[in-house]
Amino acid sequence: MSDNTTGAIRLQAQQSHYREHSVPLYLTSSFTFEDAEQARAVFADEEPGQVYSRYGNPNVDELIRKMCFLEKAEDGFAFASGMGAIFGSLGALLQSGDHVLACRSVFGSTHQLLTNIFPKWGITYTYADAAKPEEWEDLITPATKLILIETPSNPGLELIDLAWLGELKQKHNLLLVVDNCFATPVLQTPADYGADLVLHSATKYIDGQGRVLGGIAVGSKELIAQVRFFARHTGPALSAFNAWILSKSLETLSLRMEKHCENALKLAEALEGNPALEKVNYPFLPSFPQYELAKKQMRLGGGIVTLQVKGGYEAAKRFIDNLQMASITSNLGDTRTIVTHPASTTHSKLTEEERLATGITPGLVRVSVGLESINDILADMQQALGRV
Ligand SMILES: *Cc1c(COP(=O)(O)O)cnc(C)c1O
Repeated sequence: MSDNTTGAIRLQAQQSHYREHSVPLYLTSSFTFEDAEQARAVFADEEPGQVYSRYGNPNVDELIRKMCFLEKAEDGFAFASGMGAIFGSLGALLQSGDHVLACRSVFGSTHQLLTNIFPKWGITYTYADAAKPEEWEDLITPATKLILIETPSNPGLELIDLAWLGELKQKHNLLLVVDNCFATPVLQTPADYGADLVLHSATKYIDGQGRVLGGIAVGSKELIAQVRFFARHTGPALSAFNAWILSKSLETLSLRMEKHCENALKLAEALEGNPALEKVNYPFLPSFPQYELAKKQMRLGGGIVTLQVKGGYEAAKRFIDNLQMASITSNLGDTRTIVTHPASTTHSKLTEEERLATGITPGLVRVSVGLESINDILADMQQALGRV
């Protein structure tokens, strides 16, 4: 894992004549030119240079360079949020008549995009189940342009075999788009399996402290050129301030992920068998249904543990209300441990049937395991479960 850390720390925007050590914030809407000829040349892409912060900005470019390094990508574009990155990328690559094959357990707003927004422009979709890979090939049609997945999924923690999917997309000449938000490039690099575009909500582990929204898409120069054209002219640019925060955060991403994963594994191991729980789900627990796959494609198990509380919604609510330290909020990937009840919050807009199809039962509680002392996290969870 250590081979990834240096670039995330040392790739920096060019130093100014002040020789500052930490990169300054470039809070400027536009950039000036020496003369009219330079302005013409920069606009014509004959000379490199900044133009306008909707197009690019030194802080934003630094974040993109680091993410390209971590995700082994040629180029990228940063967005104001993760959804900006998903909409901006798919909007750029898809046309009327195209079909998307997506895993059923996509993020809630991605589901809205596929089911309620893209159909307005004649873009259709089919959902495939992570648990039934044998069905995926039959769901590909002549109109299928791309495959969109998340692994591990939110909040079901379903995994998809990236090596298998990389071969399937190759065989059918499709684009493979991976939302790598849960794993981060520290735990898995989808480009190793042939992913064409990797998307992130930087709001989660990349920020890591619950401060700012951000998103990014990275991939080949050719695909990013299309994404950049679409995004530059539709306006979802990431602010320089948020880019500065996110770029600084990348310096500690690897360290933080190791600790999130260490705490999550300890929590999952300690809670497995708790009499108030039906099940504890964590990719690196041997009881996890896709344990072998998790070990094969993830360097560590991730920072999310899900708990199936016995007694459904009422019991899950009591567990959450009994917690004394953990925060009740919908974000994840924070230094602070967070609990979320997906069925009544993040996934409440789905039908009961849609929720159950992706493992979101009434008793499911998602725990984003933070960086507090594991003893304190565990004590909080155990006392809350003891009083359910
Ligand atoms: C949060 C999240 C998003 C959306 O990101 P925002 O920054 O909130 O827009 C997309 N995908 C996954 C997997 C997420 O967890």
